[in-house]
Amino acid sequence: MIIGIPRETRAGETRVAATPETVKKVAATGKHQLVVESGAGASSSILDTEYQAAGARIGTADEAFGADILLKVRGPTAEELPRLKRGSMLIGLLNPFDAAALQSYAVTGVAGYALEWLPRITRAQSMDVLSSQANIAGYKAVMIAANTFGRFMPMLMTAAGTVKAARVLILGVGVAGLQAIATAKRLGAVIEASDVRPAVKDQVESLGAKWVDVPYANDEERKIAEGVGGYARPMPPEWMARQAGVIHERCKTVDILITTALIPGRPAPRLIKAETVAAMKPGAVIVDLAVEQGGNVEGSELDKIVAKNGVKIVGFGNLPARVATDASALYARNVFNFLALSLNAKTGEFAVPKDDEIIKATLVCENGAVVPRG
Ligand code: NAD
Repeated sequence: MIIGIPRETRAGETRVAATPETVKKVAATGKHQLVVESGAGASSSILDTEYQAAGARIGTADEAFGADILLKVRGPTAEELPRLKRGSMLIGLLNPFDAAALQSYAVTGVAGYALEWLPRITRAQSMDVLSSQANIAGYKAVMIAANTFGRFMPMLMTAAGTVKAARVLILGVGVAGLQAIATAKRLGAVIEASDVRPAVKDQVESLGAKWVDVPYANDEERKIAEGVGGYARPMPPEWMARQAGVIHERCKTVDILITTALIPGRPAPRLIKAETVAAMKPGAVIVDLAVEQGGNVEGSELDKIVAKNGVKIVGFGNLPARVATDASALYARNVFNFLALSLNAKTGEFAVPKDDEIIKATLVCENGAVVPRG
């Protein structure tokens, strides 16, 4: 098999789907060739010569796209589609909720595997790109907040007087939110956090943050709040209104607000209205990680910092791409572990185990058609 690693061409995408470390592992099978497009690793500080030393050949975009197996970070762009080879395997973040994009991949005749649909089972943890990248986003959100904020994060006692620790509120405590708590804690902030899923309370408290409780009015609300498969579900409007009230009061006191709330396949829940932003202290900073899904915060704009009454709302998209080297390293390991499902550990032969539940869950198109979601 020939495995191709093209350079990512979407605006702002700095990551690459294979690193010298993962190239070396595939090359070690002695059964497969790897073609890396020249410059594919440049934005992640990986030189062509490092890929060569690991056992890959450096080629053109056409050579990389002409491979039997394509390792990508993001789904192909309209310009890249004509380069896809019928019958080849395409692995990456294919944005499976975008029906038009999936259809455009299907008609090229590739077998597309969308890593967003990896099941959250123990065996798939080493392939979980959403977790590896959300972890980075949570870290970077705090770095951006600290950098945008006009004050210190830790409490300081100096000869010129005492500086108060920053108060940070984190809404949505999945993978990104937990890392945001841990990172803000290391910087010395005082942290509060909240989530719709009740299971999160213990995790928040074990990281040394204070849990902000939004009570459930009845068992039905609690049941919905538990979510499915580790993911949240949309909450009834009554609970959302109660949450807005509780959070509005907390927001009046905080210096930094980081929102990470998502519901798979849906627009991000709107947690912060303009009136809450208006009630925040001048100099406060909001980082809305959900901006690409429509935003948790009213007024946030993709890739912009919007100022409202002295409050800055940061809406940068694709935060993992701002930590390119480590984001690529973790993403590439996830992709290698996914690929390893099809690599015979003894012989190195490649055969896709079509009945494997991970393979079945991620296959989005094949033989010219979109695979219906079961
Ligand atoms: P996500 O990115 O889909 O959502 C981020 C957070 O937003 C979630 O915690 C969600 O509950 C929260 N949220 C959604 N709507 C909200 C609302 N209205 N108000 C407040 N919060 C809201 O989630 P994620 O980070 O991908 O992970 C969610 C969970 O799955 C985590 O607990 C994580 O530990 C777990 N997980 C399990 C596995 C596994 O078992 N293999 C792998 C990865 C993650």
